[in-house]
This record gives sequence, C-alpha cells and structure tokens, in this order.
Amino acid sequence: MSVLEIKNLHVNVETDQGTREILRGVDLVINEGEIHAVMGPNGSGKSTLAYTIAGHPKYHVTEGQILLDGEDVLAMTVDERARAGLFLAMQYPVEIPGVTVTNFLRTAKTAIDGEAPAIRGWIKDVRESMSNLKMDPAFAERNVNEGFSGGEKKRNEILQLELLKPRFAVLDETDSGLDVDALKIVSEGVNRAKANTGLGILLITHYTRILRYIKPDFVHVFVAGRIAEQGGPELADRLEDEGYDRYQVAETAAA
Ligand code: ADP
Ligand code: MG
Ligand code: MG
Repeated sequence: MSVLEIKNLHVNVETDQGTREILRGVDLVINEGEIHAVMGPNGSGKSTLAYTIAGHPKYHVTEGQILLDGEDVLAMTVDERARAGLFLAMQYPVEIPGVTVTNFLRTAKTAIDGEAPAIRGWIKDVRESMSNLKMDPAFAERNVNEGFSGGEKKRNEILQLELLKPRFAVLDETDSGLDVDALKIVSEGVNRAKANTGLGILLITHYTRILRYIKPDFVHVFVAGRIAEQGGPELADRLEDEGYDRYQVAETAAA
C-alpha cells in the first residue's frame, strides 16, 4: 500500500516585492487508490502545491515534509521523483519543440522504468490509449504541445498518465478550458488509469464540474495557502451552491 504524505508544508517564492510565503502549513495524506480533490479560489496556492510536489526550483520549502512511502521526496531530483512514481499534469503544459509525442513518451517511459519498453507492445499501448482518448493518430508525430489546442494539451497529459503508470498523479486544473465532450473523455481517462493501476490522485480544480465525472473520496478546500476545510464529496456540492466567499471572509478577519 503506497502513501503520499504532505506534512506541515510551508513554501516561499521570491517575487519582485521580496520573499512571499505561499503555502502556510499544508497537511494531506493520499493513499493508493484514493482521489483527493483540492478546490479553492484563484491565487490560493493550488498550483504552488503541485509545483512543489513536482520539484519546481522556484518554490522553496522552508518547513515541513513530503514523503512517498516514507522516502523524503524533497531530497529527490525532478527525475528521481518521476522514477519514484510521481506524475504532474500541469495547468499550463509546455511546448517541447523538436520532440514528437511518440519520442517524448518513449523517452519518459524508458527513464522511469530504467529500460526501454518492448517495441511491439509499446506501439500497441500507445495506439490504444490514443484511441481511448479520441486522439487523431497523426498526433503521435507532432511536436509535444506545439500548436495544440487547450483540449489537445490536456488529452496529451492524460495520455502520459495512462502510459507512464505513476503511483500518484497531481492533476492541476485538467478541466480548465475543456468543453463537455473533452471533459468526459479526459475524465474517463483518469478513471481508467485509476481502475487499471490503482493510483492515488490529487485533483486540483477551481470548479466542481469535473467532479461529476471523477468522483473524489475526499474534498479539501484550499484558502490562502492552507486547507480551510475538508470533507467528503458532499463538500463539493456545497461549494457549488455557496462558492468560496465564506472562507475568504474568515481569512480576512483572521489576517
Ligand atoms: P492557484 O493555483 O490557486 O491559483 P498559485 O499557486 O498559482 O495559485 O499562486 C498563489 C499565489 O502565489 C498567487 O498570489 C501568485 O501570484 C503567487 N505565485 C505563485 N507562483 C509565483 C512565482 N513563481 N512568482 C511570484 N509569485 C508567485
Ligand atoms: Mg495564497
Ligand atoms: Mg493554479
């Protein structure tokens, strides 16, 4: 049984105005097979949490820990994190000029597994996953994210998720900019990955819409760099009705 633990996480970034604390003590435990939705207003630090887990150099951990099965994730390089089974789907996926989708996937798979995938089975897996995600086969030969639409970028992230088979995935606003059809396809991909490999998922979202298709086991409300409230799926329904205003009022009063 794998577990990803985030303990009392404090994170700073350097801004033009000086050092700013963005995460102010985050505690979160994700077991294998669990889906945790992290919901919150813009600017509350959700992407900062995702980048910190992934090891982005801009985000400095000043206190706290991230542990994967007891191993210190913060001591790992970005590559080591991927090999240990962590996966991040970014809110704004980057273009990789000169690298095709096929080559990127194969290189990543090889790096993570420590050996190249057997070619026949691999090609079949790629085709199957692309077909599941209703991606045009021609996509395989295009450069990663170059000229991709918002929806195509998100599908490409889920394609990586399906093929790289991480133990834990952080999905940062995978729902943003998707129409309903694309949202369904992407959600089905996530659900399939969970069913096939039992991965744990940290699903970051501003809107409740995606939670109609991906059912969270736990919902955490993120406000001003920490978890303000947590509960089950019913909490998402309440947020849909009430929004985040309530929390922001409380936060302002506390400041
Ligand atoms: P969310 O994803 O919840 O919208 P972010 O984590 O992107 O929030 O941002 C939280 C706060 O931290 C925002 O005020 C944002 O401007 C600030 N921030 C995040 N990353 C940086 C950075 N690299 N440099 C400066 N400020 C940042
Ligand atoms: Mg904040
Ligand atoms: Mg964000």
